[in-house]
Amino acid sequence: MRIKVVGAYGASLATYHLSTFLVNNTIVFDAGSLNIIELEDQLKIEHIFITHAHLDHIVGIAFFIDNIFSLTKNTIYLHAIPAVIDSLKKHLFTKDVWVDFTKLPSEGAPRISFNEVNFGETVKVNGLEVIPLETEHIVPSSAFLIKEGEKNFLYTGDMIRAPKMWEYINKLDRLDGMIIEVSFPDKLKNIAQISKHLSPELLRDELDKLKHRNTDIYIYHIKPMFIDDIVQDLFPKRVDLKLRLLYEDEVIEI
Ligand SMILES: [Zn+2]
Ligand SMILES: [Zn+2]
Repeated sequence: MRIKVVGAYGASLATYHLSTFLVNNTIVFDAGSLNIIELEDQLKIEHIFITHAHLDHIVGIAFFIDNIFSLTKNTIYLHAIPAVIDSLKKHLFTKDVWVDFTKLPSEGAPRISFNEVNFGETVKVNGLEVIPLETEHIVPSSAFLIKEGEKNFLYTGDMIRAPKMWEYINKLDRLDGMIIEVSFPDKLKNIAQISKHLSPELLRDELDKLKHRNTDIYIYHIKPMFIDDIVQDLFPKRVDLKLRLLYEDEVIEI
């Protein structure tokens, strides 16, 4: 499995981009920055998985579809839990703010098509199996477990806690890596709690539930203005785990 980090941050600022991860060249997990990759690479994308409907995870879809619309006849499949798809239909794919690409060029052959997936169900795409798992955030959200052969990789999306996700993950024989969020430093823990995100202290509580202690843990969704504070809070608390920040443009090979 090859994971290219397109956008790793929880804000859009100068050289910091919104959450987007490109897996095996054709599958995308979250799409805040989907429109910033090279056009020829955008044309290879076939499937988009969305954790939740917050703008920082979806806004790139609007411009991505616009970029490729006249250059391909392919349908792009967008996979998410039903509540997320409902929000996208109501608020993103609407003529009021952009273009309803779910009905263009024709309703019978739209450029984008939705696939509702319930928690725990498996979607098979291009050699991967992808399973949404329940997480708690301020809107309906899922993590995605990504399986390729024997290997398991977890992408949490935004969350404050996820007991059902940890229960599922802890039953696996192996976990080959995970991307999990930290948005705010501990001095803003109250804002993290109100917005249902993690701070380093809250992350520690969540990671205490993880059975796979030797897995690689990559941190994403940091608000760039708090990077230094978060690093100071994070690392003294986690010397026992293989934990590091995720950087844009890096490629993780699983
Ligand atoms: Zn977010
Ligand atoms: Zn969010």
